[in-house]
This record gives sequence, structure tokens and C-alpha cells, in this order.
Amino acid sequence: MIQQHLIDELPAYALDCLEESERHAVERHLAVCAECRTEVTALQDAAANLALSVAQVEPAPQLKSAILARIATVRTPTRSMNWGDWLRNLQPAWGVAALAVIVLLVVSNLILWNQVRTLAQNTPVPSFQVVSLAGTGPADTAHGVMIVTDNGRFGTLVVDALPELDKEQQYQLWLILDGQRTSGGVFSVDSWGYGALVIRAPLPLDAYSDFGVTVEPAGGSSAPTGDKVLGGSF
Ligand SMILES: [Zn+2]
Repeated sequence: MIQQHLIDELPAYALDCLEESERHAVERHLAVCAECRTEVTALQDAAANLALSVAQVEPAPQLKSAILARIATVRTPTRSMNWGDWLRNLQPAWGVAALAVIVLLVVSNLILWNQVRTLAQNTPVPSFQVVSLAGTGPADTAHGVMIVTDNGRFGTLVVDALPELDKEQQYQLWLILDGQRTSGGVFSVDSWGYGALVIRAPLPLDAYSDFGVTVEPAGGSSAPTGDKVLGGSF
């Protein structure tokens, strides 16, 4: 099982400022998580660009030992200590390092925001329930989708690529509960095979378990008589 993504630890990991045990934990996660590996690569690139964008100067010899002494006393952030506290703990001399961490956090958030946006584009609107219907029999390239409100009271069926019927025939939606089929309405499709139906039903639509569409005489039947062309389940 893949554990939660290590969003908080990755910037510090990219800057190589985690304690050894934390670094090992991150490395164990990276070994099994391609998403976090991608993010670390992006963060390391950003860190490399940051380093290159600062003019290189030869520091005074005593500065290096002062910094190393200071490093020994500054704790890297842990789970019990959030980034804000950690940054406040830093002395002014550490402004540059803190700025680098902040920039990396911003980069990290941008990457995360991009991922969330991509995810949102592929996720149904949360206030609707969605049922997919797949083509069967003579209409196996057809497909349909039922969009049902959260409370189940209203729903619409949209179909595509169903064969166009002659005037004496229509498609009929069946709502199935415990093997009993109730009509949800009749509809026709245009020459593209596209059609839509506002569903009328005695029960909330999410009370039914399965849905089917058959070819029936125009106006519909009291029970299915023709070929089944679409089927789906909640
Ligand atoms: Zn991950």
C-alpha cells in the first residue's frame, strides 16, 4: 500500500536539509511513488536555478565556520514543528536559506495546484451522481450517461452513437429494481445518433440499481419487447 504523499517534506529533501531518519523515510516513499519523484526532480531543478541565480563570491574563511557552527544548532523542521515555526526560529543571517525554502514551497504549491487542476478536469461535478451506460448487441459502439442530482429526484439521460430508428420506433429507458422494470421515458436520436431524455420516475433515481435502453414501438411499451442497446448500473 502506498502511504500518503510527502508534500511537506519534499522541499526540505530537495534542499538536502532533512535529518537522516527523515531523509530515509522520504527515500523509501520515493522508491514507490512516481508522483513524488517527479516533484522532487522539479524542486531540485528549481533549487539548482536558485543557486545559479545568486552571484558567486568567495566567503571569508571565518564565515564558513560560523555558518557550520550555526547549522549544528538549528533544527530542521519535523512533523511536530511546522515550517512557520522553523522559519521564525532562524536568525536574520539565515534569511537567504529561508527565502530559498519559501521559493521552493511556492514552486511545490504551484506543482500541486497544477495536479489538483488536472484532477478536477477529470472528476465529475460533485453535486451530481453519474451512471455510464455501455452499448450492447446491435449498438455496441453506442454509449450513454445518466446525470442524476445528489438527492436522486432529477435525472437526464444523454446518448451518443445509437442507430437512428424509423418513425415507427423509439428508444425506451428502463429503470430496474429487484428485477422489476419501470419505464423512465421514450426518446429518439438524430442522424448522428445523439439524443437526450429528461427522466420521469415514481421513485428517486438512485433507488434503482440498473438501467437499460431497448428499441420499442413509437410511444413506448409497458414492458421491454425489443433489442437491448444500452445498459448500466449505479
Ligand atoms: Zn508520493
